Amino acid sequence: MDATENRYSLAYKQIAKAANDTLPLKKLVSAIAASAARGLQASGCAVMLLNPRREYLDIAGAWGLSDLYLRKGAINARKSYPDILDGKIVAVDDIYTDRRTQYPEQAARENIKSLLGAPIIQRGEVIGEIRVYTREKRRFKPNEKDFISTVANILALTLEKIELAQDLNNRHQSNITQQKRLTSFSDLPLAPIRPVTFGHPSEEEFARLLDFYQVEWLYEPRSFPLSSQDNRITEMFTPDFYLPEIDLYIELTTSKQSLITEKNHKVRRLKEVYPDVSIKLLNKGDYLKLFARHGFIPLGESKMTGVQRYLFSKTQIQRRVKLLAKQISRDYQGRELVLIGILKGVVCFISDLMLNISIPVTVDFMAISTPADKSDLLIRILKDLDTDIRDRHVLMVEDIVDTGMTLNYVLNNLTARKPASLKVCTLLDKRVRRLIDVHLDYVGFEIPDEFVVGYGLDMGGKYRNLPSIATL
Ligand code: 5GP
Repeated sequence: MDATENRYSLAYKQIAKAANDTLPLKKLVSAIAASAARGLQASGCAVMLLNPRREYLDIAGAWGLSDLYLRKGAINARKSYPDILDGKIVAVDDIYTDRRTQYPEQAARENIKSLLGAPIIQRGEVIGEIRVYTREKRRFKPNEKDFISTVANILALTLEKIELAQDLNNRHQSNITQQKRLTSFSDLPLAPIRPVTFGHPSEEEFARLLDFYQVEWLYEPRSFPLSSQDNRITEMFTPDFYLPEIDLYIELTTSKQSLITEKNHKVRRLKEVYPDVSIKLLNKGDYLKLFARHGFIPLGESKMTGVQRYLFSKTQIQRRVKLLAKQISRDYQGRELVLIGILKGVVCFISDLMLNISIPVTVDFMAISTPADKSDLLIRILKDLDTDIRDRHVLMVEDIVDTGMTLNYVLNNLTARKPASLKVCTLLDKRVRRLIDVHLDYVGFEIPDEFVVGYGLDMGGKYRNLPSIATL
């Protein structure tokens, strides 16, 4: 056996051993990455898995690469060496000049020159990639391509083994949870398993909430150097989440005051150093409210009994609804309009609105699941429209827009049906809490960050018949 064969044989031995071990996913994959890199005498290796929508790559494990390089930003599988997604082995002689390199500057800083990437294929479908990096420029030889492709095959088998085990565990868990009342998002099994280790349970809950609303997320994909001294980074910030569809970073904070101050400082610094980056800080209260709204964590149960403050009286609401109806009637003059409402919060508003619209309208309703519907892992249409809205003018009528996640989902769904036009009218706009910036054409009232009830809006099914809008 020559030296190369010796190295490969040793690497295969180590990889087979790691694959058959009962290590946690990240450790196991990183061990395989290390052996693969050593087998090829390379300086680094990363194993990445496609996220559920098959657009971005989550890093499952790595060896020999700096944290800053691994967290260089969202890795778009269609931009970054897309041939690998098509099942091909890709060899790049010069990463810096190759057009398919998504982050050339970061590669230069990491001092990596060449790359060999192979698809991880499970049952004919690419599920991820393994990439090996070298510090010197290298032309990869056929035997090296064979080697990486074999490692990718072993990875595919290993990941399948882990998925099967997790699937069994999930099924067992959901048998247990079906018998008790769900009280928190962490009781829901994560829809697709992702190779992510969350730093805090609240982050995992938040990921589940995003999954539910089918909002794409990446966990800690980018570290931002904030200050440096003599070419050395002295302060760095890695926001918890990145939502690629809306190009927004999110940092969750807990109730600990010292942490809040520190995070506020980092967020402020980040905005100074990277003015083009959008980031939002969500504190514990913010997302507890988000969960409470869906009936999970009880929100101030002691206050449940009574109304605290009235925001808008019956008369104020009626006056505003009439104005909105007038404006809509004017804007849609000469056209036929379909009003669409999402049950049930919108019932009072949509009926008052249509009574005041002077042009011909038809009305239809949709019902969608909420995370509290225990059987649902993803937002789902429980009652679809009876109307075909193709080529028709549609006005989506909402009671309240909060994070915008519901509306975003519904608008995407309705747009796919090709209406002639699609606009949005909401009675209440809680703009301060917006995560997804959906455009609102007609707004009744903008309200502060408070949980409101009445005029159709409920809390645990109650208060819908309150004629005014109030806080609890
Ligand atoms: P989003 O998806 O925009 O976060 O939330 C929209 C839905 O959440 C609304 O249709 C409504 O059902 C519910 N919601 C949001 N904020 C409130 C609130 O303050 N009170 C009540 N009763 N429901 C709310």
